[in-house]
Amino acid sequence: EGLTVRDLAEMLAVPETEIVKSLFFKGIAINVTQTLDLPTAQTIAEEMGVMVDVPEEQAEATKTTEMLDDTDLEHLTLRPPVVTIMGHVDHGKTSLLDSIRKTRVAQGEAGGITQHIGAYHVDVDRGGEQKQVVFLDTPGHEAFTSMRARGARVTDVAILVVAADDGVQPQTREAVSHARAAEVPLIVAINKIDKEGSEPDRVKQELAELGLLPEEWGGETVMVPVSALRGDGLDTLLEMILLVTEVEELSANPNRLARGTVIEANLDRARGPVATLLVQNGTLRVGDAFVAGPVFGKIRAMIDDRGDRVESAPPSFPVEVLGLTDVPAAGDEFEVFANEKEARALAERCLQEQRQTRLQRASRSRRVSLSGLSAQAQEGELKELNLIVKADVQGSVEAIEGSLEQLPQNEVQVRVLMAAPGEVTETDVDLAAASGAVILGFNTTLASGAKAAADREGVDVREYDVIYRLLDDVQGAMEGLLEPEE
Ligand code: GDP
Repeated sequence: EGLTVRDLAEMLAVPETEIVKSLFFKGIAINVTQTLDLPTAQTIAEEMGVMVDVPEEQAEATKTTEMLDDTDLEHLTLRPPVVTIMGHVDHGKTSLLDSIRKTRVAQGEAGGITQHIGAYHVDVDRGGEQKQVVFLDTPGHEAFTSMRARGARVTDVAILVVAADDGVQPQTREAVSHARAAEVPLIVAINKIDKEGSEPDRVKQELAELGLLPEEWGGETVMVPVSALRGDGLDTLLEMILLVTEVEELSANPNRLARGTVIEANLDRARGPVATLLVQNGTLRVGDAFVAGPVFGKIRAMIDDRGDRVESAPPSFPVEVLGLTDVPAAGDEFEVFANEKEARALAERCLQEQRQTRLQRASRSRRVSLSGLSAQAQEGELKELNLIVKADVQGSVEAIEGSLEQLPQNEVQVRVLMAAPGEVTETDVDLAAASGAVILGFNTTLASGAKAAADREGVDVREYDVIYRLLDDVQGAMEGLLEPEE
């Protein structure tokens, strides 16, 4: 199965070098006669603007296995799901993470020392069978979104925490948009049910308005009432995570060299550069030589989330590793190589490539801009116009959304990834960068840091104070009539 770079180039009618280059930026060094697996070929094709129809059976097999290739297919074993917790500030994300960890990990473990490495796993008994669930414990969707903006896909399911005494809030909406844009399934934890004034049903009502209809009302969204404080409902929540992810048959091949994603990294004064790696395929071992983005490493020691030294880490498990030459970025993918020299050379090439890209970006930004999209529309290449709308008040948000819906959408579909009141934030910019969207601000400002982020990531942020101008520009872009900018 699969096809060579040359075949793909021919099919897409693009130069072979374009494909090699594009793969290289993903950290895959390959020559034109080597074979690509289908998901990779598909990603490349889609980048070149070609939609690919994968026969359903194959699509099923490759859906959640971007880290896998053909050689893995006969060795696949189920792996634990990886979970991210999102939600509004103070709704209890940290408490929930701590509480799950404490009740599950401290039991029976001498000392019960907890080591914060950016992710942890818990054991869950499921009908007599021991299962695991892995949590990323950097709460908030900033980490999640910025990782996704860099192309990493680590989360199998997102838990949306909503406080039962406070209901749906701006960051709740934002989290829902982000999970949807990433196409990650969502489970709702209605938290603080121990509190006086908690109204779980009102929360469900508000979530239903966002399109998340609870199962008991005939919808598809699993909602679990919990109290992070008292520990109520945590068992059910864990069970639901397993239930929701079982359908996906998350799998990986433990019998090969590891690859995965950097979850966290920093410079430790005593230990040097330290990184937490989440293994997504294969098994990671002490002594392995690996490349994480532009950084080379040879694993000197590995520490798991319980603070124990370990010799190996199977798929879905996070470990902290020592032995890196530098600090990689969170969200960088890593890959182990049999040949250490090859790994060093690849890291070096990647470093140079990054330098060059940075230079290129500085001189000629490849931004997704409204006028750029307009040019694509003129060529008939634009199918979807992704937008993020931020406005001064909820009323404006609704007015703009309503008017956008009214625009004729024959050739080009308008897709509003998120519309919310408030400033344009760095998180909005990350979402835009990850989704190729343009940000429209109406009677609002840019939060500190958002401007710099937009420049860095090449995101077009347009500001308006009159609704019809905003609509004119969007319609103009859809019809390919917008003047190109400088
Ligand atoms: P985060 O900002 O979403 O991480 O929220 P925190 O976990 O920091 O919680 C915010 C506040 O809510 C803290 O004072 C917690 O003690 C409190 N809290 C969290 N979960 C519960 C709960 O289940 N019940 C009650 N009564 N308070 C909670």
